[in-house]
Amino acid sequence: MEVEDKLKALSAAAQFDICGYSGPRDFLPSAQRFIYRSTLPGGGSVCLFKVLLTNVCMNDCAYCVNCVTRDFPRRAFQPEELARAFMQLYQRRMVRGLFLSSGVADNPTRTMEAMVKTVEILRYRYKFKGYIHLKILPGAAFDCVAEGCRLADRVSVNMEAPTVQHLARLSKRKDLHRNIVEPMQWVKKLKASDEGLVPSGQTTQFVVGAAGETDLDLLRTTSALYHEVELRRAYFSPFRPVRDSPLEGLPPANPLRAHRLYQSDWLLRVYGFPLNEVELALGEKGNLSLKKDPKLIIAERQPWLFPVDVNRASYGELLRVPGVGPVSAQRIIEARREHSIDSMLQLRKMRVVTSRAAPYIWFQGMLEWEKQASLIPHLDEEPELTLSMALG
Ligand code: SF4
Repeated sequence: MEVEDKLKALSAAAQFDICGYSGPRDFLPSAQRFIYRSTLPGGGSVCLFKVLLTNVCMNDCAYCVNCVTRDFPRRAFQPEELARAFMQLYQRRMVRGLFLSSGVADNPTRTMEAMVKTVEILRYRYKFKGYIHLKILPGAAFDCVAEGCRLADRVSVNMEAPTVQHLARLSKRKDLHRNIVEPMQWVKKLKASDEGLVPSGQTTQFVVGAAGETDLDLLRTTSALYHEVELRRAYFSPFRPVRDSPLEGLPPANPLRAHRLYQSDWLLRVYGFPLNEVELALGEKGNLSLKKDPKLIIAERQPWLFPVDVNRASYGELLRVPGVGPVSAQRIIEARREHSIDSMLQLRKMRVVTSRAAPYIWFQGMLEWEKQASLIPHLDEEPELTLSMALG
């Protein structure tokens, strides 16, 4: 019963970490609420046991359910206990991997050592070879981070806010450079010294809308992290006020804002757009439009790039066309080695969203496009940049 009680409390608290988040869990039977289907970096998906080692935390992050100032029952697993609980779920085939995070119980290194110990027990005693995502606690010592990197498939340090000034509004105890950026640099160096370490790389998370940051602040820091610490990806978690927390009165962030950030991040990370081009999507106050896809805005603000000749354009030029993604751009290039492209129907078969692309492309016989487009049913159009794709 005691373990079940801890499971309930510590898996519920873990849902506030968005990495692998797959929507509200309240509708699920209690035994399944700590199981998350997460997309794997190399494709495919896996059911993860997502849990905190403890919800005791000495830190004061104003948005967080585990903030030290909140008064609620705190729980903690012992490493042995948590490893055993995981193995029981694994042997019952309820989960295939682990996402282990934690509050900072007393001292970041000591708490992280207990997390690493849990993973060691799984790897060495139970011979568990499956996927493990290990959270690095801000302020944990290098040796402990290095040991975690030797054992985990993926690690993450949550940034939470994009600048020193914004983090200072959320926590008086966290130092962005020393506690967060430095461990990210350690992970990069460890990976450089041994390619096999942390095969799924490192990620981070931002809480969106808690510190008065703009989308420009978030995208600039995200872009810098991709370049400087080889971040694999960033997650954007819309702020939700927590009862009895310092930010209880702040309104929740619009989830659509996070969606637009994911779309812009996708342009940076997958399409390879430079930051200054993605910045074209921002309004005067440095925020993305909630009404329009950022890629469409970027295209509208660079009219001299269009129309693109689909029979001659480079991969990069095709990628800038709304309605064309990496898959369809590649298919266009491959198809035109065999024949020229002269109809919307051909493009639709290559997964181009022709209703979006039509104003931005050109091919011989294009004058017919409106007629052709109106004749084609629009049922199977590929949504170009959905949240689930961005999360994938
Ligand atoms: S360190 Fe983590 S668990 Fe603790 S208050 Fe901050 S965000 Fe919450």
